[in-house]
Parts: sequence; structure tokens; C-alpha cells
Amino acid sequence: NAPAASANCLFCKIVAGDVPADVVASSERVLAFRDIDPKAPLHVLVVPKAHHGDVSVLAAADPSLLAEVVATADEVATELADGQYRLIFNSGPRAGQSVFHVHGHVVGGARLGWTPA
Ligand code: 5GP
Ligand code: ZN
Repeated sequence: NAPAASANCLFCKIVAGDVPADVVASSERVLAFRDIDPKAPLHVLVVPKAHHGDVSVLAAADPSLLAEVVATADEVATELADGQYRLIFNSGPRAGQSVFHVHGHVVGGARLGWTPA
């Protein structure tokens, strides 16, 4: 019942291996790779391999998969930084979402400022 890969979705193409990425973690249902334009020393994107548009869609469709995304974010931050991180899901274009395949931004590796806009 997992949604099929969405045509023309950049992150589905990364999951499929059709677009290269610097993968830092991969499991049966979750992939983590470095952001191409990092905003912090650690900046990794964590995605479900199945296509879901945003975090609220994922939470409704498959809450345990959202939990796997969060657990993977924690593991990546522990392995690649000091285990302290911010996990951001932009939801909607006005909130800064530009890729409509849900992804958590794991940012850390430095003391983070608070700049919500
Ligand atoms: P959003 O703005 O949707 O929350 O985040 C999309 C993120 O994807 C941005 O931080 C952007 O830098 C990153 N991104 C865009 N294109 C690529 C790409 O081809 N590869 C990787 N690794 N990251 C990308
Ligand atoms: Zn997708």
C-alpha cells in the first residue's frame, strides 16, 4: 500500500539512484543524504523511500514510518555530530518547502541561532 514513486519527484529519483546523492544512512524504508546546499556543519535530509508529499500526509498515512524518519535523524546526528540537532519539516511553499516529497532537515554540528524567517 506504499505510494509508488512519483514521476518527476527529485527525491524519488534520489531514492531510486537515478540522481546521485551523498547517502549517510539507508534502511528498508528510510534514506538520509547530505543537503546539496548545507546551512550548518551537519545538514542532512531524511526521507521515507515511499513518496508522501509532506509531513502531515506522512503522519496520517503511516505514523510508524514518520517515527522511523525521526529515529534515523537522531542516529545520523549521533554518528556525524554530537547528537544534538534541530529537525525541521517545511510544510507548504510559504514555509519554504520546495521539494514536495517529505524530508526532515537534520541540522547541527554548531550552536544554532533561532531565525525562523
Ligand atoms: P525544502 O526547501 O523543500 O524544505 O528543502 C529542500 C532541500 O533540498 C534544500 O535544502 C536544498 O538545498 C536541497 N536540495 C535541492 N536539490 C537537491 C539535490 O539535488 N540534492 C540534494 N542532496 N539536496 C538538494
Ligand atoms: Zn517522491
